[in-house]
Amino acid sequence: MVKILLTGGAGYIGSHTYLALVQAGFDVVIFDNFSNAKEDVPLRLQDLCGHTVDVVKGDVLDRRDIADVFNAHDIDGVVHFAAKKAVGESVEQPLDYIHTNVGGLLNLLAAMDDAGVRRIVFSSSATVYGDTDVQPIPEDHPRAYTSPYAYTKIAGEQILEQLSDDWAVGILRYFNPVGAHQSAMIGEDAEDIPNNLMPYIAKVATGQLEELSVFGDDYATPDGTGVRDYIHVEDLADGHVLSMKSLLETNQSHTVNLGTGEGSSVLDVVGAYAEACGQDLKYKIAPRRDGDVAVLTARPDKAKQELGFEAKRSLSDMCKSSWAWVSGQRRNVK
Ligand code: UDP
Repeated sequence: MVKILLTGGAGYIGSHTYLALVQAGFDVVIFDNFSNAKEDVPLRLQDLCGHTVDVVKGDVLDRRDIADVFNAHDIDGVVHFAAKKAVGESVEQPLDYIHTNVGGLLNLLAAMDDAGVRRIVFSSSATVYGDTDVQPIPEDHPRAYTSPYAYTKIAGEQILEQLSDDWAVGILRYFNPVGAHQSAMIGEDAEDIPNNLMPYIAKVATGQLEELSVFGDDYATPDGTGVRDYIHVEDLADGHVLSMKSLLETNQSHTVNLGTGEGSSVLDVVGAYAEACGQDLKYKIAPRRDGDVAVLTARPDKAKQELGFEAKRSLSDMCKSSWAWVSGQRRNVK
């Protein structure tokens, strides 16, 4: 059985990818420091997949932790999620972001090289495209960073591009991952006051937050609010399976967008979520948020051509699964 190491495998995207990889027949080991994941995630995964989940608690910043995993397991490939991901926080703590995201990647690559494991799927982001009017964005669009977080993703891609030909690298540029697993047993563990749109709306729907602030209604978009390419986290997870399969089968590297190619405005998302949860959601128009662009959508063709990837789930599926997850969580804490 092919064995995959999943760094950050207990996190939001990591845990969904765990299930997708197991379903595709892979043996998977999770490596996570649980800094942004609940300790019960492996138990939930165990319930869902019906077998013991291999979990190593460790840190990508600790070279010994990583080397130990490669000594204990015969790993064939790595999917690397373990990283910090909040744009705003990265502006406050640039060194910390560079240390964790770039330093962690370097530690991992060194351990992989020592173990002779030279296949890696890397979590990148549409943020690497910077501010651009080119929409939808093709992968050959020049990269530019607009935050320390974006810088760490560009640096990660560039480091991976320097590796010799005996490496096979999958660089996946995520657009806006949202939603939760169909079981409603795993999903995003949102902050008290989320920065991102869908987790914020979810908290308005559960009554934990009063109303959504819509950041700007005077953009050059059909309804004036910002347009993004939201992708269901289960589609995103499937993209990782296809990326790893391609590395294993072809030994060729690829860099692809993972999005739907469809844009939805803030008000589209509010409307779809209101329908999913069966109630009106309160919102007010607020000033634009610093650093936001009007539109950000993916050209999805390359992922389709090179990996056979196509997002299948609709905005309605994203909102319904998010609502099933957050409303279930609320029942548990009551
Ligand atoms: N947004 C909003 N109110 C919020 C959070 C986000 O109006 O409380 C808007 C934001 O301006 C953007 C879209 O929702 O147009 C998606 O923002 P998010 O932070 O989820 O993702 P981003 O595309 O910025 O990474």
